[in-house]
Amino acid sequence: MSALTPLGVYISVPFCKAKCSFCNFASGVGTAEKMAAYVKTLCAEMDAAAATSERLGAELTRRVDTVYLGGGTPSLLEPGQMERVFAALRRNFDVDGDAEVTMEAAPGQISDPSLEMAMRLGVNRVSLGVQSFVDRESQAVGRSHTGESCLAEIARLRRAGVKEVAADLIAGLPYQTAASWEYSLGAAVASELTHLSVYMLEVDEDSRLGLEVLAGGVRFHAHGVPSDEVSAALYEQACEALEAEGFGQYEISNFARGREHESRHNRKYWERGAYVGFGLDAHSMLMRQGPGSRAQGSEGVRVANVEELGGYGAATWGGGVVRVGVDEAFEESLFLGLRLCEGVDVAGLRERFGSRVETVEGAVGELASGGLMVEEGGRWKLTLRGRMVSNEVFGRLLEGVAV
Ligand code: SF4
Repeated sequence: MSALTPLGVYISVPFCKAKCSFCNFASGVGTAEKMAAYVKTLCAEMDAAAATSERLGAELTRRVDTVYLGGGTPSLLEPGQMERVFAALRRNFDVDGDAEVTMEAAPGQISDPSLEMAMRLGVNRVSLGVQSFVDRESQAVGRSHTGESCLAEIARLRRAGVKEVAADLIAGLPYQTAASWEYSLGAAVASELTHLSVYMLEVDEDSRLGLEVLAGGVRFHAHGVPSDEVSAALYEQACEALEAEGFGQYEISNFARGREHESRHNRKYWERGAYVGFGLDAHSMLMRQGPGSRAQGSEGVRVANVEELGGYGAATWGGGVVRVGVDEAFEESLFLGLRLCEGVDVAGLRERFGSRVETVEGAVGELASGGLMVEEGGRWKLTLRGRMVSNEVFGRLLEGVAV
């Protein structure tokens, strides 16, 4: 990365119409007043970005080639609010004419005026939180849409001229079975979606559903959540079925109908590209200032914004600031790179990180013997089985790094 490498910009809009039971994001139901105040702070934060990055000693390039409005449900912004957010973006950054500009949306929650405005402002990719095309499953987790309304939304977006329409699906929802999952995957494939993200349900203490599953309760349809083994089998089913239907897998959770439909913005996360995040719980990864910084073992700076709306203020990037040294950069290059199906270039790793690479070679060998990793064409990759247990694989590699 250098001062000339274009940035990705992430903008968080953490408001939703209702809170889904599985959701562990920093998002909540917001009032119109809260949204208006938030947009004001967000714009002020963008206006202060240059000064804030200067204070952190981080390099902030003006040129931007990807923008991602996530959340939350940014499609709930009023047209005037969208206009203000994009005006702040364009005041502070130079967005490429062919930039990828994504907006997340909930099916049925993009009004005609908001869609029109979003497209006028340059949004060319909409990512829909479908989760399931089976009504019983989506309704069990608190979504208000049906499979049919999702398909109608996809068609409407394409008709309106949105270039890329993406959707998220979740494996492991309450009541999901191999047959119902096959139906969801089939509906996705038969639609005009160009990109799919498939996540495994996260059962943890950060969501109401996760808490209930852990407690062995029945609220939020927790008793209908399939076992870990079944969820893993559903994920495997998705990888195989989507590949067979022309949705190539390029990352642990991501599939595209051809390379040109891959998410350019998300690739920055896995390739350790530079990006800056604004808004609640937004994250940034920026290079350190100064031409010699990498040689001096100082790679960059990661910043996490606060997670609580009450503590969110402009001009702060007020969460945690982590300096990324060479050791951290090595770990990140390995773990983020392995998320991509193309894996990591071993010679490139050696060139940049020298003997650090040796610390993981033993673990790579063992994982390869166990069928979880493979070395192919000078690259380390996860196998399909490795992708299914990626956290275990990363844990095993980390042991090598820590020795
Ligand atoms: S719409 Fe998305 S961000 Fe909002 S509660 Fe549901 S999963 Fe969470």
